[in-house]
Amino acid sequence: MNELSYGLLLKGSIKTVCIAALCLAAVACTASSAVFAADGGAVIRIGLSYGSGAPASCEISSANGFILGVYEKGGFREGMPLPAYTTLTVSASGGRTTLHAGGVLVSDDVGAGNCIMPYDYAAGAPIVYNGVPYRGGLSFRSNSNNTFNVINRLTVEEYLYGVINSEMGYKNPGEALKAQAVAARSYAILKTDSHASDGFDMCAAAHCQVYKGYGDEHAETSAAVDGTAGLALYSGGVPVSGNYFKNSGGHTQNAEDVWNSAEAHLRGVLDEYSPPYTWGWQLSFRELRTLIASAGDDPGDISSISVSERTVNGHVLAVSITGERGVVTLEKNRIRTVLGASNVKSLNFTFGGAPPTPARPQSVHVAVGGGVQELSGGMSVLSANGFAVTVNMADAVIQGASERVKASGSDGSLAGAFPPEGETATGGSVTFTGSGYGHGVGMPQDSAIEMANQGFDFRQILTKYFTGTEIR
Ligand SMILES: [Zn+2]
Repeated sequence: MNELSYGLLLKGSIKTVCIAALCLAAVACTASSAVFAADGGAVIRIGLSYGSGAPASCEISSANGFILGVYEKGGFREGMPLPAYTTLTVSASGGRTTLHAGGVLVSDDVGAGNCIMPYDYAAGAPIVYNGVPYRGGLSFRSNSNNTFNVINRLTVEEYLYGVINSEMGYKNPGEALKAQAVAARSYAILKTDSHASDGFDMCAAAHCQVYKGYGDEHAETSAAVDGTAGLALYSGGVPVSGNYFKNSGGHTQNAEDVWNSAEAHLRGVLDEYSPPYTWGWQLSFRELRTLIASAGDDPGDISSISVSERTVNGHVLAVSITGERGVVTLEKNRIRTVLGASNVKSLNFTFGGAPPTPARPQSVHVAVGGGVQELSGGMSVLSANGFAVTVNMADAVIQGASERVKASGSDGSLAGAFPPEGETATGGSVTFTGSGYGHGVGMPQDSAIEMANQGFDFRQILTKYFTGTEIR
């Protein structure tokens, strides 16, 4: 039939083999070299169990049996049908994975490149693993410790059906759900490298994108996926990642201020649609030392912690922890990963006091010739990274010799000075007081919901937060 290798065990059960052979013949006649994907779209591989969660054995089920084949870009190529079995046991066996049905060996090597689908996959039937139904099919990749990774293969569009509700509840307004669908699609299309060594593209957790499968689909979220089918973010003619997070606290972040490199579409913007979200976290210096030491750099007994640098948007770029053994500096997103991303909910914080809030001046005035002229709308500046960035006047920041402030109001007063650098906590404990939740780069979901409530459509929402992008 094709180059598939299932290692069908001919001596296991004559009855089993006959059933399989008869069905194979039937399929071969009626659906010769069948290639099918739900919508012909790109296929994505989602890791359901891997690493310490990888099983040595598991059960899978499907109401009308199974069919083995190869599922890659272009569709599912049918191989061996197994309609007689509604439950199969998958087991690791010395670098292979085997299939048993009721104690009978069905295949002695499923093969990591193959995929087992519901027999009636073309009708949209799900396959059940760990009690959870999934669209598409399952693959099993052997690990060296006699376990295997369980991988769900399906189209990107099918995958998105099972993502949107977990990332943005289905009761939210339709245009916000559509913006979420485009962002999640754009994220998924480009996110194919972080689990390459595990044999799949994305995991099903927040590390990549939360995915709960067929059982988490809702009419509202599926409509958002269908209503934006295939649409993704483009910048300069190439697809770009649709990063998102919960709440900006009033300003989003430049990508390079959180991660490593700058991206033209991931620029910090003033976010006038952000609902308030404030947080606080207090811990002793002893607890602080434990967290930092467990990340591999013990400062000794801590005497102080300082904000040593802020970004042009006022978020924290670096903190310095001084201990008896020296100074440990944490930068960018590492502040949150070392101290705990659910403790330090954002990089928009101070030590004690009120959380920082971006000011929102209405206009900026510049001296032109002998008079003063009001700038309105936006202006373009060339950043150090070589990007031409359009800056809204309300978003302008003035860098002075000793302090950084938001642009002035029309009365000339300086508005919204950021908290000073060098703020320090001493005395055995520190209180983080912050605003916003998440890494801060890209689209804040709370703001997308607010914009939708105010009547903006998904394209307006996306282009507000993904600078200079096209949606197509
Ligand atoms: Zn992941």
